[in-house]
Amino acid sequence: MPSDLVIVYHRQPYEEVVVNGKTEYRENKSPNGIVPTLKSFFGRVDKGSWVAWKEAEDPANPDFERVIEIDDQYGKYTVSRLPLTAEQVSSFYHVSSKEAFWPILHGFKERYNYDPVDWPTFREVNWAFAEAAANEAAEGAVVWVHDYNLWLVPGYLRTLRPDVKISFFHHTPFPSADMFNALPWRKEILESLLACDVVGFHIPRYVNNFVSAARSLLEVETMKREKVKPEMNAVTSALSEQSVVTELDFEGRRIRLQASPVGVDVAYIETLAASPETEEKVAQIKAEKGDTKLVLSVGRTDYTKGGIEQLESFERLLESNPNLRGTLRLMHVSVAANANMTAYQEIQEQLEALAGRINGRYGTFEYQPVALISRPVPFTDLIAYYRAAEVAWITPLADGMNLVCKEFCAARTDGDGVLVLSEFAGAAVELGAAVPTNPFSHRSMDSGILYALELPEEDRRGRMKENRAMVAQHDVRFWAEDQMQAFERNTVTSDVAAE
Ligand code: UDP
Repeated sequence: MPSDLVIVYHRQPYEEVVVNGKTEYRENKSPNGIVPTLKSFFGRVDKGSWVAWKEAEDPANPDFERVIEIDDQYGKYTVSRLPLTAEQVSSFYHVSSKEAFWPILHGFKERYNYDPVDWPTFREVNWAFAEAAANEAAEGAVVWVHDYNLWLVPGYLRTLRPDVKISFFHHTPFPSADMFNALPWRKEILESLLACDVVGFHIPRYVNNFVSAARSLLEVETMKREKVKPEMNAVTSALSEQSVVTELDFEGRRIRLQASPVGVDVAYIETLAASPETEEKVAQIKAEKGDTKLVLSVGRTDYTKGGIEQLESFERLLESNPNLRGTLRLMHVSVAANANMTAYQEIQEQLEALAGRINGRYGTFEYQPVALISRPVPFTDLIAYYRAAEVAWITPLADGMNLVCKEFCAARTDGDGVLVLSEFAGAAVELGAAVPTNPFSHRSMDSGILYALELPEEDRRGRMKENRAMVAQHDVRFWAEDQMQAFERNTVTSDVAAE
């Protein structure tokens, strides 16, 4: 039976476990993240499908069933697994997406590696995803495609199935034409995205950047522009916009552009925060840290996350504030997601060298200033650290959204704790009550963290209250609803005159 809703997302929506030689499909251990929210939409349609890839030695003859039926707490849905060889995955995902697109999306032209990209393979893989989605979709179905590694899917799908409604969500930043057009495949990518009915981004800045790139190469017309709501326009952010383009016309088709920030599952985090296990863990952490203050930083080992700049700031802090030696600790969690890439290995080595130097210079037998943690911390433990820390120090150089800062606020049901947040994280346009910091400036980084450490309780609570309200308002369900409703938005009125 064809599906009314097809979600195209490179990861499978469950964990595959082999028990006694038999494959079982289990709910992801941690229901954190967007997958459960996406699956919850299957409950609203007669039939839903999910398209993902799965590695196969011989894609023409995979050693697994291509299409399976899943029956879990979200109801019954189909999962179509696209067989890809390890070489195809490496080429389309690790090379094209991570070495060429990722640096450009985040504004790091100097890290961009064009030469190893195998564009025919990228096209081939995207075509296969589009075909799989086309096979699943009912007449007039909604197909929701996720992220830049599937950039060409909308264009192919429009050719295969002119009847379906296509929505595409970018989980990263989108750069302006100056940066985006460094990609030689720029026109092909933009034409594919303009085959959508809805193109979604986290924040208005990325929408306007997309429009700037589209206008630089194609005859697109802005049909509607709206004022950005105050809750998406914090003045402390470097990413604020006063107005945002919401409708474009391209070759006689109307395209809705929709900014909806991905959020966290506040109810789930609050339940974890209140559990006896978390309380016990928080008590343990607090007993262990005694009177020292704990600054917490959590992220992936990636040049976009600004880990090196942060450790350098921490070193300067201890250098110029002797009173902080012995009384302040930094827990710096930096987890390698792509260990096999040289760019990430280099950062890991630099982080280790810096942490070692700081601990050597300022540590004693009893006091270690930096705990550098390279292994993933289980989400339930992370909630306890969020609750035990005095400050969360989240300072990416560029970040599409950043969920860690939202998780920190959601976990602080006690109303205390200070968030220091980079002006360049997408979340900064919403979290105007965070202490802003500019990770490109030594002075701003050093004064931001000092300010947070000295903030009186009343101010801490005032800021946390505002941030928590925003995180609750823009939770993960809000994001998904806002994107889905974009199909129904009217096209008649305009708050700001169309250009
Ligand atoms: N995370 C985790 N354990 C760790 C480090 C990170 O569970 O040791 C989770 C974190 O809670 C968050 C996600 O990984 O949900 C990172 O998301 P974010 O949007 O901040 O960054 P991304 O890695 O997607 O750029």
